[in-house]
Amino acid sequence: MTALLLANIDLEELFAQLMAELKKRKPNLDLRIWPECGKPEEIEIVLAWCPPLGVMQRFPNLKLIISLGTGVEGILVDPDLPDGIPIVRLISENQTLEMVEYVTFAVLLFQRRFIEYQALQRSRRWEYLPAQDARSFTIGILGMGNLGSTVAKKLAAMRFPVRGWSRTPKAIPGVECFHGHEQFKLFLSKCRLIVCLLPLTPETQGILCHETFSALPTGAYLINVGRGKHLVEADLLSALDSGQIAWACLDVFHQEPLPKDDPFWSHPRIIVTPHIAAIGPAEEFAVSILDAINCSREGRPLKNAIDRNRGY
Ligand code: NDP
Repeated sequence: MTALLLANIDLEELFAQLMAELKKRKPNLDLRIWPECGKPEEIEIVLAWCPPLGVMQRFPNLKLIISLGTGVEGILVDPDLPDGIPIVRLISENQTLEMVEYVTFAVLLFQRRFIEYQALQRSRRWEYLPAQDARSFTIGILGMGNLGSTVAKKLAAMRFPVRGWSRTPKAIPGVECFHGHEQFKLFLSKCRLIVCLLPLTPETQGILCHETFSALPTGAYLINVGRGKHLVEADLLSALDSGQIAWACLDVFHQEPLPKDDPFWSHPRIIVTPHIAAIGPAEEFAVSILDAINCSREGRPLKNAIDRNRGY
């Protein structure tokens, strides 16, 4: 089978690692890199990462699209995406645990007030700030899928009261579950901190906005590890100004890389990281990619297929 790596963003080192892992496991895999794709009719598998629009329709024998990103919005946005071709995403245990690490670190940075103690240290001030007890520091997770539910369970095990919000009802031991638009404000009403782990869809775009921030207790914290377009950036800046939001930790942005003149870089109460919350190991992805290719070739059911209508 011939596979094509189709990416719009130059992630040289990450892609080189993935290619090497794939070649190590399957030396005879015919793996090409866009735009050097050879004859379009030879391409049967596309490995997609923010793929350029309109390209996939050129491959008449395409059988499978494998998303290299957990979120598939960059694939579904293509108006010429060929119909009926299954799209799968890759789920890696280590990537999931990286997300747990990132979110836990940011939660503790805020809840244990490390971020404020750092400022005190810079001015050589020995001061106690009132403690924020984990047992009353309610955390709300938006999106209770693979990542959100794992993060929720780990934080609950650390004594935090955890709430989760999803599209459909869930029952997760130790987590208070909410679902749907009707329960959103009720879900938010007690959250001292929210974590966005939603996929980007027409329903979730802009969900981190003034209305959402206003439904939180005053001085709440925000961690956005979903997608940049979940956040209405101007609304966050005014919520930080008014004190409705105390601090924000952002890993994802409307425009990536974040432009040099973006106000987020220098905002005193925003932490910026360059979309690194959970990258995942190339070797695990290589195994999953080869498994997906084998399933497709042998006509076996595909794992982690996405639902185009749902958008994730
Ligand atoms: P999943 O598809 O497993 O889960 C998505 C969750 O979001 C589900 O619980 C789903 O509800 C919920 N959801 C979707 N639409 C709505 C809606 N309209 N209202 C309420 N809930 C909704 O995704 P993952 O957990 O694997 O990943 C989540 C996102 O995290 C990815 O799409 C990506 O954007 C981001 N991500 C970021 C990374 C980073 O490094 N910053 C790395 C990896 C992922 P239901 O269960 O009812 O279907």
